[in-house]
Amino acid sequence: MIKKENSSLQPYNTFGIDVKADWLLTIETVDELREILQDESLKEESKLILGGGSNILFTQPVKGVVLLNRLKGIEIKKEDEEHIYVQVGAGEVWHQFVMWAVEKGFGGIENLSLIPGSVGAGPMQNIGAYGVELKDSFHELEAMNLSTLEIQKFTSADCKFGYRESVFKNELKNQFFITSVSFRLTKHPQLNTSYGAISQELAARCPFSYGKRGEQRRHQHSSKQITRP
Ligand SMILES: Cc1cc2nc3c(=O)[nH]c(=O)nc-3n(C[C@H](O)[C@H](O)[C@H](O)COP(=O)(O)OP(=O)(O)OC[C@H]3O[C@@H](n4cnc5c(N)ncnc54)[C@H](O)[C@@H]3O)c2cc1C
Repeated sequence: MIKKENSSLQPYNTFGIDVKADWLLTIETVDELREILQDESLKEESKLILGGGSNILFTQPVKGVVLLNRLKGIEIKKEDEEHIYVQVGAGEVWHQFVMWAVEKGFGGIENLSLIPGSVGAGPMQNIGAYGVELKDSFHELEAMNLSTLEIQKFTSADCKFGYRESVFKNELKNQFFITSVSFRLTKHPQLNTSYGAISQELAARCPFSYGKRGEQRRHQHSSKQITRP
């Protein structure tokens, strides 16, 4: 764990706003998170969870503790004929996880290429792009209750996903730290190319086929070309 007092958040937010936090704590394991939340000297301080800092606008110094989420790891937990179930540390960079899946030929999240931010922030607003949402490949997530320090599992129904919505933005706001997210990815990708800009880009790029794996890469590349400013 890295603990810094009166530390600038400039490197940790997309706008590059140079505000200071009373405390900046970089968390690399769930045990470290628990340790910080049990720390008597920080108990009364307010807590702000920060992933990639791409959906947050700092307008003033942050009082209390910023918990910088760097919980890593991508682990296939189980698989069957059709699917793999993969658990991803909430501090993994979302786009890097998408690239991992595409490289391995696992389908479901390729349209969500290049969405900035961390895996753990994805369920907060049910990230989505080009006709696909995180909830479509979501299996379950684990989150630490910031008061009881218990790890709780949330199914898709528990998360109450909606359009850029979840329970974590509403009734459970500021109550949980999402520590990992599990996805159910298909071994036989059915590409969703229905979104207008994607199908146009694909048609313009190449009129013939590369086989299934190549199609998925080409498709993910098209989402990337369109998403990239
Ligand atoms: C250029 C650009 C393009 C974008 N395109 C899209 C898009 O196509 N589709 C889309 O859906 N969104 C898009 N977004 C929004 C953004 O990518 C998502 O909201 C993303 O999930 C934010 O992740 P983050 O890690 O940066 O979150 P942060 O900005 O770090 O945090 C956002 C909020 O989530 C909370 N939070 C973060 N991590 C956790 C956690 N582990 N547990 C509990 N709470 C947490 C924070 O406290 C904060 O309230 C875009 C943003 C930018 C800047």
